[in-house]
Amino acid sequence: MPHPVLASPDLIRFEGDTPHLVGSRCDECGEVYFPATDSCTRCTATRMSPHDVGHRGTLWSWTIQGFLPKAPYNSGETPETFRPYGVGYVEMASGIKVESRLTVADETQLQIGMPLELTLIPYRTTGEGEVFTFAFRPSASA
Ligand SMILES: [Zn+2]
Repeated sequence: MPHPVLASPDLIRFEGDTPHLVGSRCDECGEVYFPATDSCTRCTATRMSPHDVGHRGTLWSWTIQGFLPKAPYNSGETPETFRPYGVGYVEMASGIKVESRLTVADETQLQIGMPLELTLIPYRTTGEGEVFTFAFRPSASA
């Protein structure tokens, strides 16, 4: 199956059909960044390598986005069609925290520390079809 069209292709790589987040890792001190950066704010080195941040994490903190965000948010929704969505910081195995949409927007189903896994969700529709972005969903293998 072909991989979906992504809003930010540089952030994702696939292992088979499983999406993984791609960040960068400092060649000098090992600090990991997502999204990728050109230099290290920890040791000021400028030699960085692509780094697989993985596809599983735990919910570190969250909120519900209850109104249409301002530009550059460009989902194509209007204040009338907007549907609230969850936003969270997800702590990855490396320890870094990734800000991400969540597939759950129900506060009774969100709990700090819950296991999550990366997925892709439709973000907007263009002339060529649907464009996807990444989100975390509750992990089936909890
Ligand atoms: Zn560094």
